[in-house]
Formats: sequence, structure tokens, C-alpha cells
Amino acid sequence: MLTKELIANIYKKVPKQNVLSKIEERYVYAFDASDLHEKVQIPDAVVFVESVEQVQEIVKLANKFKTPIICRGAGTNTVGACVSVHGGIVLNFSKMNKILEINPVNMTARVQPGVVVGDLQKQVEKIGLYYPPDPSNLKVSTIGGSVAQNSAGARGFKYGTTRDYVIDMLVVMADGSVIRTGANTIKNAAGYNLGSLFIGSEGTLGIVVEVTVKLITKPEASEVLLAYFDSVEEAVNSVNQIIKHQICPTTIDLMDNNAIKTIEEYKNCGLLCDKQAALIIEVDGFKTVIEAQMKLICDILNKNNAQNIKYAKQKEEADEIWDARHSSMAACAQLRPNVTTDDVIVPRENLSILIKGIQKICSKYDLIMCMVGHVGDGSVHPQIPIDMNDKDEYTRYKLAKSEIYDLTARLGGIISGEHGIGLVKKPFLPKVIDNGAIDYMRQIKKIFDPNNILNPYKIF
Ligand SMILES: Cc1cc2nc3c(=O)[nH]c(=O)nc-3n(C[C@H](O)[C@H](O)[C@H](O)COP(=O)(O)OP(=O)(O)OC[C@H]3O[C@@H](n4cnc5c(N)ncnc54)[C@H](O)[C@@H]3O)c2cc1C
Repeated sequence: MLTKELIANIYKKVPKQNVLSKIEERYVYAFDASDLHEKVQIPDAVVFVESVEQVQEIVKLANKFKTPIICRGAGTNTVGACVSVHGGIVLNFSKMNKILEINPVNMTARVQPGVVVGDLQKQVEKIGLYYPPDPSNLKVSTIGGSVAQNSAGARGFKYGTTRDYVIDMLVVMADGSVIRTGANTIKNAAGYNLGSLFIGSEGTLGIVVEVTVKLITKPEASEVLLAYFDSVEEAVNSVNQIIKHQICPTTIDLMDNNAIKTIEEYKNCGLLCDKQAALIIEVDGFKTVIEAQMKLICDILNKNNAQNIKYAKQKEEADEIWDARHSSMAACAQLRPNVTTDDVIVPRENLSILIKGIQKICSKYDLIMCMVGHVGDGSVHPQIPIDMNDKDEYTRYKLAKSEIYDLTARLGGIISGEHGIGLVKKPFLPKVIDNGAIDYMRQIKKIFDPNNILNPYKIF
């Protein structure tokens, strides 16, 4: 519990209406999009910050009173990264949501952390520029959350993750001071890459209050196709063959048979439910190049026994294909009261083994599992609809998850390619990260945050 003295001090630093202190106002901040069923704590106060100075003042107070401080963007992370373990203050960034500058000459954008990723994309695209990282919930998730989780999306195969675009940040440190981590330049070889340390650190090392990202030129066009297969192996072989032929699609996404059937049941959009796998392949660039690449991709798909290839000629048809794929979680929500999504990644040579293995594990524990994934990267999202109030089902689900992480580790993979670790995956980190490396992470945390106030108890 925050002391009365601390609460009184918070009221001196920000306008009264920016502080939530009643339990009914704070209650929702005990949750995010994770599958945390165990009790998490309701934070003691929620503060809507509006400036860097306000963030500094609140952090100084938290540090003085040794109180946890947890940043919150849209609260959509799936790993319990922005929930509270021992109360404390939630910093809500929804009022720091301005795009401060888009610079077409430098091809950069400088933004506040509460900017919604999709809004930034829309604004830069208006002037022919492009911000590629595309978490599938980009209409709500924020840049601050993306930086903290190193978010990515379907375009990751060609364009990389958030980390590849952040060139500079202003970060409020645990003592309330502010540091600049990079420069407004496309290259930077000056000293340690401190910025990279903050990216993916889930708000445990510092609070990001301004981000400068580099932009690229917007591709002239993009085209999408959907192809079906009688086996996951044929789909994965096609992916490897396409890449081997030196084609770099923007996106190569997969849906397994359960995902296809569940989405079709929900949307009635004409997906072929008797197929074991489907690939959605998008290519972007100059129109003439796309044409040649799509022809080659179709040849490769045909050689790998692809069926019913649907080439989306109009944007509306492409949107329909993507809408179907993006509705997989909503479709799963029709099957059980709760939907969980995971995120594991392996070297692509082991992708078929991973997918088949996860299917086998879930069927062993009698769980429904719909698999979607950005398979160009080797990354998959097994989505498991369950009833968390059903103790037996919840126990089976937990056992299955642990086996999925064991399998991922055996295949040389990592238990998160884009969603992060938070509280949910913290017990499993030693399965994939060497103990010595985790020790160094702990030491880094101590240097940055000696009083352990910044989003404590997360990651390790
Ligand atoms: C339906 C659905 C689909 C998703 N699809 C994808 C996907 O395709 N790709 C993907 O990568 N993720 C995906 N996610 C996961 C999630 O959306 C991302 O992790 C997202 O980037 C989180 O953004 P947010 O604004 O909601 O952050 P939050 O959930 O609010 O916070 C995430 C973390 O960031 C920290 N944080 C927030 N702001 C700051 C700040 N200013 N400074 C320091 N730390 C901060 C928080 O403390 C927390 O640790 C999906 C989630 C859902 C529910």
C-alpha cells in the first residue's frame, strides 16, 4: 500500500484528475491480455502522465519511497508484463500520444510513447514513407509497449522488428534523471548500444518518454496469395524453397487445419476446411518486380503440391484474406470463455517438427489448439481456447505449455520471438537462456535500478 504521504506528494506533481485512487477505478489495471489466472495485485494508484517532467517527478517519488512503478501503454501484452505483483504506481501513457515530428528528409519520426502504432503508420504513409513493424493489434498497441516488448508482426521476415527501427530515445532512469540513448542518425557506431538494452526490457530498466524511429520509403504496391496444402510439411517446404530462390516476401503466414476450420466457422469466408495447412504470402515492391516474383512463387508452390491457389487481384480480396487470418483469436473466443496465445520461435529448419510437436502435445492434453504463425521467421502462435475456471482443463493447459517450451528449447529455439517474457514466461526463461547470461541480466538490472522499483519481478 502506498503511504498517505506518497499519495499526497503525487497529487502535488500532476493535476488531480490525472490520478486514479479509488479501487473501482484501479481494478482494471490489475489485468492485461495475459492468461494470468493466479491473483495479481490491484495497483495502489494510476497516474496519467502528460510530460517528461511529470514522469521524472513521479519516478523520483517512487524511488524515494521505494515503491514499484509500472508503465502501461494499451495493456495488450500477453505475458503479464504490465500487471502489478506488489501494488505500486501505474504510469498510464495514453495522454502522451503525440507524433512530435515527421522528418521526410531524414526519413525519421519522433513520437511520444503513447502513440498508437497504426496511427504512426497512417501518418507517415500519407507522405510516401513507411514504418514496417506491424503487431497484429496495431490499431491499439502503443510505441512505448512495442519498444518495451520488441514487438514485431507478419512483416518481420522482410523488415525486422521494432529494434531495427529505433535510432534514439529519451529514457527516464530509476533516479528520475533523463538520458538520451542514441542520435538522430541512421548509423551509430559510438560506444555501447544502450538503446538496444532498453528495447525488449519490458520497462524494467528505464521509462521511455520519447522515441525516434527511422522510416523507409513506402513500397509502390503489394500483392497477396493464399495457398492450401494436404500437409504442414509441404507448406513448410514451400516456405524454404521460396526463400532458397532468393525471394524475400513481406510476409509468409501459416494457418493449420484447426485454425482454418475455426476461422471458417466464425466468419464463413470460404476457407477450405479439409486442408491441413494454408499459407498467406505477400510480396511488396515495384509492380513489375512483384509480378515476376509472384509467378516464381506460384511455380514453387505448385511443385510442392499446393492446391487452390487464390491470387488476390484487388485490394479488397487481399484485405479479405488478411481479415480472415487476423480473426483467428476472435474465432477461438467462440469456442471457450478464455483465449490464450503463445509465441515461440525456432530456426526455420526445425519448423515442421515444432508445429507437428505442438499439435501432438495439445492433442495429448485434450486441448483445442489453432496454430497461426509468421513462418518465414520460424515463429508460431499456438492459440489455445480454454475455460480457466475449469481446474482440470487449466492444469492440462499449464502442462502442455511447459512441454511446448521444452520442445522449443530442444529445437534450438526461444520462448518468445515478439511477445516478451513478463510474469507468465519468467519460470521458463532458464530453459532457453544460459544461467550465466541471466546473471548478467540481473547485474544490469541492479546497475540501472538499484532499488528495484521499475516493473519489478518481471522477466527473471
Ligand atoms: C490480439 C493480440 C494480438 C497481438 N499481436 C501481436 C503481434 O502480432 N506482434 C507482437 O509483437 N505482439 C502482439 N501482441 C502483443 C502486444 O500487443 C504487444 O506486446 C504490444 O506491443 C504491447 O503494446 P501495449 O501498448 O499494449 O503495451 P502494454 O501491454 O501496455 O505494455 C507492454 C510492456 O511495455 C511496458 N511499457 C509500456 N510503455 C512503456 C514505456 N513508455 N516505457 C517503458 N516501458 C513501457 C509495460 O510496462 C509492459 O512491460 C498481441 C496482443 C494481442 C492481445
